[in-house]
Amino acid sequence: MTHMFSRIRKSAFPFLFVLVSCSNNDTQLPVVESETEREQKTTFVFEDEFSDEEKTKMENWISSTSETAQKLLGRFPFDVYYHFHREDSTEAAVIFGHTVRTDTMHSAHFYVNPVFEEEEYFKDWMAPHEISHLAIPKLPKTVLWFYEGFATYLSRQVMIETGIYSKQEVDSINFARVLAIKDKFQTTSTLPFVADSLISQHQYPAVYWIGASFFMEAEKRLQIKQTGMNFCQVVNQFQSCCHQPKMKIDDILNAWDDISKTTVFTDLFDEYTNKPCCELPPIINW
Ligand SMILES: [Zn+2]
Repeated sequence: MTHMFSRIRKSAFPFLFVLVSCSNNDTQLPVVESETEREQKTTFVFEDEFSDEEKTKMENWISSTSETAQKLLGRFPFDVYYHFHREDSTEAAVIFGHTVRTDTMHSAHFYVNPVFEEEEYFKDWMAPHEISHLAIPKLPKTVLWFYEGFATYLSRQVMIETGIYSKQEVDSINFARVLAIKDKFQTTSTLPFVADSLISQHQYPAVYWIGASFFMEAEKRLQIKQTGMNFCQVVNQFQSCCHQPKMKIDDILNAWDDISKTTVFTDLFDEYTNKPCCELPPIINW
């Protein structure tokens, strides 16, 4: 039987509604049109029996990670539900996580063994990963490499903010992980085809990290083009100007291009989906 306890916390940050021009050539900064007092609600749902002490520990961990993530990536324009499932038999603090999304409901589920010290939960990448997913609408399986690469890349950026890693450590982890899967992409086939085949063989890390390389390359191009923005700042602005349910991948890429006043994202996506894998930037340049 499932025991469900729900506690509601309200965040201290009001939503900002921002109007931006639709024109690509408009050089004016976004104008804050109005500010409302509507607040984002965070709800914690305990799907199994947890002691009061364990509940407090889980809530502290996720509310702190969620606040840090949304300070970096922007306040999500919806209420968020965090569900906890108990996995006593595991030797890890966090064993599994996933998100459940509809147009009106956004939740992340965590499968945890709640007996560890609080710091063990913060060291894990799962919560930063699942919370990062919420920064864009759910995308179809055909672009799983992109959807998972986005959360894989941003989870480590969030972990810099939570103090788990330095920027240098994250850069070297990212490069090492992409180098480790490089040989799987030494082929003249295109990424959508290769990614489908890797997924069917359950080779998920290769798919996640080739996806993460997209965002590492985008980060580099934002710098080369001297946009004065990093990718997290683009995502942060996306929350207030553009994040809507039912957005397609093209809508997201176009919004990021508009925000950065470049064509970095649509150009790179075109490369990643149409070029032979052996000619992709991380394979030929890194
Ligand atoms: Zn994921």
